[in-house]
Amino acid sequence: MPLALAIHGVQAFGSSMKFICYEKHGETRAGRLDDDGQVTQIFGGHRDCTTLALAAEDVLAMAPEPDGRLSELRLCPPVLRPEKVIALGRNYAAHAKEGGADVPDFPMLFHKTATSLLAPGGQIVIPDLSDQIDYEAELAIIIGRRGKHIAESDAMQYIAGFTCANDISARDLQKRTGQFASGKMLDTFCPLGPVLVTPDELDPFGGVQNLRIQTRLNGETMQDSTTANMIFPVAFTVHYISQLTTLLPGDVILTGTPAGVGKARTPPVWLKSGDQISVEIEGIGILSNEVVHCSEVGPG
Ligand code: MG
Repeated sequence: MPLALAIHGVQAFGSSMKFICYEKHGETRAGRLDDDGQVTQIFGGHRDCTTLALAAEDVLAMAPEPDGRLSELRLCPPVLRPEKVIALGRNYAAHAKEGGADVPDFPMLFHKTATSLLAPGGQIVIPDLSDQIDYEAELAIIIGRRGKHIAESDAMQYIAGFTCANDISARDLQKRTGQFASGKMLDTFCPLGPVLVTPDELDPFGGVQNLRIQTRLNGETMQDSTTANMIFPVAFTVHYISQLTTLLPGDVILTGTPAGVGKARTPPVWLKSGDQISVEIEGIGILSNEVVHCSEVGPG
């Protein structure tokens, strides 16, 4: 089913196009978030937000039920079990420069893992392996439809929506070798959420390439930029990656971080136990997480 039709089906429930995934009565549920904070269950049974954009007929056949208010629910990442989490490095020129690196000629890709996903409000766990933990505010793309060799002009039709991500990075592990992944793939290192926002929801803000993106550490602004500064924009990124691999519903693509990360500061700023770190993206929301050391939590 074309995603445009699926989205139209979801729209039949109202004008709001924000979705969340949450826990209730021992299961994960996917629901619609209204502007007044009311959450309406659309799917139970351990489904996530991706399915909302994929099964319009199912959605239309169900009677949505009020399920509580956003402030009362325990949130999950909008996607629960992505087949892959792909991230771009150095996708903002000012961030590449602050790291002493050139702007890449092609998207610089690395992987994070499904077990790196962390819910809004969840704890980022510092491992014993590292004492150089950093933050990176990023716009996340959530794929809604299977695709290969996607034309740049068609890319938006394959996107279920967007959310906030924090590409937590262990800089000492990242620098051990020529491959980034050792410092990126750790459990809890990909906070994601709180809402999945469909692309059309961002039109009033000038679209996905015109959103203010910020990080706050214990209330202090550390990153403040706009998605207009991406070197490789969303549509090109989806097109490019789809030439390399088949994109599947629920796949997550992190689009890189702007300048202002902790490693580039003098002296460097590393996350420590007790810190509160928040990513805010205009039109989407605020993703907030607490930082703890592994010695404070049981073996996971
Ligand atoms: Mg990053």
